[in-house]
Amino acid sequence: MANAQIRVLLIEDDAVDAGLIAQALAGTETASSKVARSFLLECVTKLSLACEKLGSAHFDAILLDLALADGQGIDMVSQLLPAAPDALVVVLSSASDVAAARLAVQRGAHDYFIKGHLDAHWLPRALHYLVERKTAQDALLISEARFRAMSDASPLGIFVSDAQGNCIYTNGAYQQISGLSFAETLGSDWSQAIHPEDRQRVLSAWHAAVKDATTFHAEFRFLRSDGSIVWTRVNSNAMGAAMEPHGRVKTVEDITARKSEEFVLHAAEEALFAEKERAQVTLNSIGDAVLTTDIMGNVTYLNLVAEAMTGWSRQEALGRPLEEVFRIIEGSARQAALNPAKRAIAEDMTVGLSADCLLIRRDGFEAAIEDSAAPIHNRDGRVAGAVLVFHDVSKSRAMALKMSHLAKHDFLTDLPNRVLLTERLSQAIGLAHRHGKQLAVLFLDLDDFKHINDSLGHTIGDQLLQSVASRLSLCVRATDTVCRQGGDEFVILLAEIDQPQHAASVAEKLLVALAVQHLVGGHELHVTSSIGISIYPDDGSNADTVIQNADTAMYYAKTSGRNNYQFFKAEMNASAVQRLFIENSLRHAMKRGEFLLHYQPQIDLASGAMSGAEALIRWRDPDRGIIYPEQFVAIAEDCGLIIPIGKSALREACMQVARWLKAGLPAVPVAVNISAVEFRHKDFLAGVSEILEETGIEPRYLELELTESVLMQDAESSVSILSALKAMGVQLAIDDFGTGYSSLAYLKRFPIDILKIDQSFVRDVATDSNDAAIVNAVIGMGKNLRQRVIAEGVETPGQLAFLKTRECDAGQGYLFSRPLPTEAFEKLLVNGMPAATAH
Ligand code: C2E
Ligand code: MG
Ligand code: MG
Repeated sequence: MANAQIRVLLIEDDAVDAGLIAQALAGTETASSKVARSFLLECVTKLSLACEKLGSAHFDAILLDLALADGQGIDMVSQLLPAAPDALVVVLSSASDVAAARLAVQRGAHDYFIKGHLDAHWLPRALHYLVERKTAQDALLISEARFRAMSDASPLGIFVSDAQGNCIYTNGAYQQISGLSFAETLGSDWSQAIHPEDRQRVLSAWHAAVKDATTFHAEFRFLRSDGSIVWTRVNSNAMGAAMEPHGRVKTVEDITARKSEEFVLHAAEEALFAEKERAQVTLNSIGDAVLTTDIMGNVTYLNLVAEAMTGWSRQEALGRPLEEVFRIIEGSARQAALNPAKRAIAEDMTVGLSADCLLIRRDGFEAAIEDSAAPIHNRDGRVAGAVLVFHDVSKSRAMALKMSHLAKHDFLTDLPNRVLLTERLSQAIGLAHRHGKQLAVLFLDLDDFKHINDSLGHTIGDQLLQSVASRLSLCVRATDTVCRQGGDEFVILLAEIDQPQHAASVAEKLLVALAVQHLVGGHELHVTSSIGISIYPDDGSNADTVIQNADTAMYYAKTSGRNNYQFFKAEMNASAVQRLFIENSLRHAMKRGEFLLHYQPQIDLASGAMSGAEALIRWRDPDRGIIYPEQFVAIAEDCGLIIPIGKSALREACMQVARWLKAGLPAVPVAVNISAVEFRHKDFLAGVSEILEETGIEPRYLELELTESVLMQDAESSVSILSALKAMGVQLAIDDFGTGYSSLAYLKRFPIDILKIDQSFVRDVATDSNDAAIVNAVIGMGKNLRQRVIAEGVETPGQLAFLKTRECDAGQGYLFSRPLPTEAFEKLLVNGMPAATAH
């Protein structure tokens, strides 16, 4: 450009001026090296010609004479400028018309020259500099326009501030980010846009960067005037001291999208972490062991329980083949068990372990486990590994074994119990049946065991049973079963015998073995036993019958003097044997003095005080404990034993009254029950008077209870016996009144003092009108006949209330007291009846 020619169009109709200008520009080489260019001048005389020319050619400069003949002064400038927008327009005027020239400049001309000064020295220079300046200005404008276009196209916001920090320029992107118009940004301070919450942080970073003259960049929020937020990243280049006066440029990047992605990512990471943490805590706090593998079957995870159970820490186990960490075998076969995780992966389904699986810990310790394995799927639903869940079932398995053992064994001796015996006996019968063989059942009962138990206590009794159990077990073969049936009864099953004699020899062996003294708790105990034997198939075709018959035979052995064994025989009727057994036992009991009396108070209903007592017999059998009269009185009557038994009861009752009287206790009359056999016995009356005499008690303390039916059996003789008794001064009572069929005529003749209303009427007295009527009638009758009426079996306050309103004389029953042993009864005698039952 420096050497290019300057094309000049001269619009001048004055030929002289035109010549002068042409001369001044022609061939001119300026002195300055900078102005080393020449002018190419064309000249037109009219504005219209000039415009034409400008349409076809380019000119760097136009010299326009304001005083053209066809022109209208400065208006020409306005016409010319559009035709040559890029050219330098300089107007020429006369010295007298400078004002017009200045006006032309105001209208758009670039400068003016005064004619007359246009010499060859000055004009080229002046024109040259003008062109030069215009070229520079045009370049600047272009550059500025380019910069503006660039900055407007930039997605980065640009904020330019002056030395005072006030905005002098912002681009479109900045305006968009800040939500401010160009005008609004101008003069503003950049920090105004910062979100108040970020301002402190950003400004201190900014001041630090300014101080250190380092690059500033920060991420923060813009708060727009409409309240919306834009995340930005702002950069400002290092600010050298030299730059300081010129202000600064900041670029602003809208990073909202990235930030929100970051937030989403961060939230997802947080959620993932929380999820992982939750899973971790859950897995470590559940009681089950959890282990996972990848699809190759290598361990990828163990929870704490799994670590403890396998003996492998997670770090050590990770990546190892599952078989190494989780070693399992089948408990019974002791062979490696199938790996459930592999199966779960292969079959893509949940699988369980075999039932008796054992886990072998790293140190060789074995634990019974139960588990299941399930496949783990990846996002595509494909199997990616397996999860194994297992837990120690040693305890529960042991417990189950124990439970099933307990269910079939006796807790004291650990021998099979009745359940297991029946099971084994049924099996043995099945086998014997198939092979045409025989088997034997021995029913063994210890003699006098109850006695030992009662006198030495249950602990000794239990130990004795254990000693017996172990001796019995030693006497039989492993294939035989010794079972404890309950109490002191044992049953021995000889599963296979060639002949019954074999059972007999086992029984003998047992008798001998048991008879050897037992050392128990420092005591030397001697026991004998009675054994009954029954044989399958001769004595029964099923388990129950065979056992039952052995039991019957055992009773027979007891009856036959104990300490022996007996084979069952068809003629041994169970109840007959039982009866025989009881008879036998009664005889023993008589000899050993096993009978005793309990006393039950009779209460005077008006006063609530005890008015009498009934003596009720009890049998304390060394084997069976307390036995009640219902179970033996009838048998005793049948075999005549009731005579001595009844007499001893009568004597004991009288002696007891004598002792109370002697002890100064407020003794009450005692009623003794007399059975038919006794009553009819020829020695009865003599016996009563003998006892009265012997004990020395006043006869009024003795009351005899006879049932209606006894009296009515032979009413005539009853009248005479009763009269004789009456004459002795004893009291007479009719027991269980209302249950027999008394003839009123006789009733009147019997010298009876007391009527005891049977408990069957008393029971429903408050609810059954018939019973109420009967009780009423008996009370009424008693009053008429001047007999005291005692209600038996009073159990409830309702019954008592009824009896009291009917003015029944006395009551006896559980409501007041059960029959009591002597000592307990004496306390009632001394202290009186408890208040609660006294009314
Ligand atoms: P019993 O003479 O009618 O005796 C009353 C029975 O009723 C007694 O039964 C007594 O324990 C029971 N008892 C008392 N209060 C209540 C009650 O509130 N509710 C119920 N449900 N029962 C009650 P135990 O002692 O079993 O005597 C039964 C029977 O045996 C007596 O009936 C009597 O007939 C007879 N007996 C008792 N001791 C002897 C005796 O030394 N010699 C004779 N030959 N027979 C006797
Ligand atoms: Mg009675
Ligand atoms: Mg009775």
